[in-house]
Amino acid sequence: MASRRQVMSRGSMAVVDVKCRERGTVPAWRTGCQDGFAGRLTGSANNSDTIHCVLQTEVLIIGAGPVGLTLAVELGRKGIRTLLIEKKPAPEFLPKMERCNARTMEIFRRMGLATKVRAAGLRADVPMDVYVALAMNEPPLLHLKYPSVAEAQADIAACNNGSMPLEPYQLISQYTLEPLLKSEAEQLPSVTVQYGCEFLSLSQDDDGVTASVQSEQGRVSEVRAQYAVGCDGGGSSVRKQLGIQLRGEGDILRLYQALYYCRELFDRIPIGDGPGHGRHYHIADGQATFLIMQDSTRHWTLHATVERPEEMAAQFERAVGVPVSYEMLYVGQWKQNLLLADRYGSGRVFLAGDSAHLVIPTGGLGMNTGVGDSTDLSWKLAGTLRGWGGPQLLASYEIERRQVGDRNVGASRYASLGRRKWRSQYRPNIRERSIEGQQTRDNLARIADVEQRKTNEMIGAELGYRYVGSPVIVDEPGGPEHLFREYVPTTWPGARLPHVWLDDGTPVQDRVGEGYTLMRLGSTSADTAMLESAMRARNAPLDVLTITDTVARDLYGYDLILLRPDMHVVWRGHRPPGDPGHLAALITGHS
Ligand SMILES: Cc1cc2nc3c(=O)[nH]c(=O)nc-3n(C[C@H](O)[C@H](O)[C@H](O)COP(=O)(O)OP(=O)(O)OC[C@H]3O[C@@H](n4cnc5c(N)ncnc54)[C@H](O)[C@@H]3O)c2cc1C
Repeated sequence: MASRRQVMSRGSMAVVDVKCRERGTVPAWRTGCQDGFAGRLTGSANNSDTIHCVLQTEVLIIGAGPVGLTLAVELGRKGIRTLLIEKKPAPEFLPKMERCNARTMEIFRRMGLATKVRAAGLRADVPMDVYVALAMNEPPLLHLKYPSVAEAQADIAACNNGSMPLEPYQLISQYTLEPLLKSEAEQLPSVTVQYGCEFLSLSQDDDGVTASVQSEQGRVSEVRAQYAVGCDGGGSSVRKQLGIQLRGEGDILRLYQALYYCRELFDRIPIGDGPGHGRHYHIADGQATFLIMQDSTRHWTLHATVERPEEMAAQFERAVGVPVSYEMLYVGQWKQNLLLADRYGSGRVFLAGDSAHLVIPTGGLGMNTGVGDSTDLSWKLAGTLRGWGGPQLLASYEIERRQVGDRNVGASRYASLGRRKWRSQYRPNIRERSIEGQQTRDNLARIADVEQRKTNEMIGAELGYRYVGSPVIVDEPGGPEHLFREYVPTTWPGARLPHVWLDDGTPVQDRVGEGYTLMRLGSTSADTAMLESAMRARNAPLDVLTITDTVARDLYGYDLILLRPDMHVVWRGHRPPGDPGHLAALITGHS
């Protein structure tokens, strides 16, 4: 039985077709929603607790953390009808991640979001320094200096050897970033964002996925989607339903985290030459105490291995060391994990973000890895749904992103072992004004000077990941090593295109199109017409970009470079490919 009714749609009333049916029969996929999207789950077809409405969409995203929200924006920008559901009634003011790394900011720039993220995040003039100290009111044992965003931008502007990202990092708290991404997603006509809607279960067949979801009022509905993506975090119900295991080290350490509001601390930070502005303050004690400035500079979080949550107030006061008035807004416990999913999906259902990989936040590779998943998956879903992507396109998602997840779990382990190593130098005599006390302090500072850097200097892991063995990239044998700490610019197939400034002051990245881009570099006269028509024959979006600047040609090392929508190199050469039809088929996932 089909009925037509009104449901709320992005704040306005819209008429959509809603098919009500008997439970158990799944209608064939169709794309006939009147307003081009699925509709909200607020309607009620009858008075019973369970309604059997099939709401249709192209992609169902489960979980509106930063990864699900980024995926929704990416898909919405490509015009893909997307329904994003989130079980929480609204975004929460809970601290988790606070730093978008350079690659995430480059991705946000391509999404038109970098300026907004910076405006919402930490001021550009605040240094990102890291301290190790006995308390904030004592001379630091170690002070690692890291540039503010403004300083990093100036460094980037002055550098043109490809070694730096186009965008530096940005400190923005997760509770600021999520509402920003939510509002971006909600403005996209093909995206519906539905909070207060919990995913319960799913089944899939050859044509699509059927998911049961429950509203806050307890009404159960069904969503029919061509594809579904579980962005539902570490405890992922989607992953469990697919029978996919996480492997690695779980529950390594439990810490309490508290969030404080303290208006005066930022202006009064007594450390160093004062006010010792910075980002992280590690307290050299026996409880792994660690104070983090959040984006407002008025909010702070503290992590410590205390026994009871009530101890977190005294722990904060000890770490700060001078009397300040503050409010403790939240205390909760979290676990450190180093885990990777065996698979990144099954059939028409994919996993992205923490549902597929869990890292220790040392190195900041949690959300940032998930944003990379979203970007990779978004254009592959769009290409498949729009008909130019072949079967290997979506199959390549797991091959490409699981290796990055694996490497980043390793990078996080490497960084957290470094942290553990310098912390293991703590001795109870560390505060004593004695020779032994001084030796403990010196020893801890010396080892922290090496080991703490592992957490804060991960540019290789951030920028240097290269997809190896992907079916949609023309592999060249060999390839540069993957380094966590060092980034060496390369156009080796699978790598991200290094950032270069052009003579007119624009970055190459801003000239790269939304689809595939064939870059013609230097003074090449190569005839690429056959390749262009091979791509056209596949209906794959292709821009041709001619860049005559010698600096770009010299750095990239090739006359012709073919990029895909996420700016990773799929092929390079000095002459047009011998078999352009085969190349076009391979990179679009048809061979
Ligand atoms: C203390 C701390 C500091 C961190 N610092 C950093 C950092 O600086 N940089 C960094 O990159 N990462 C950091 N991380 C990690 C980062 O927070 C996570 O990697 C990130 O939140 C993962 O995003 P996600 O969207 O995959 O999952 P989540 O943020 O966990 O979001 C999943 C969402 O799915 C929803 N959901 C779950 N089940 C269902 C269901 N059945 N139906 C509907 N919705 C559902 C949840 O409510 C949630 O909103 C930190 C983590 C912690 C704990």
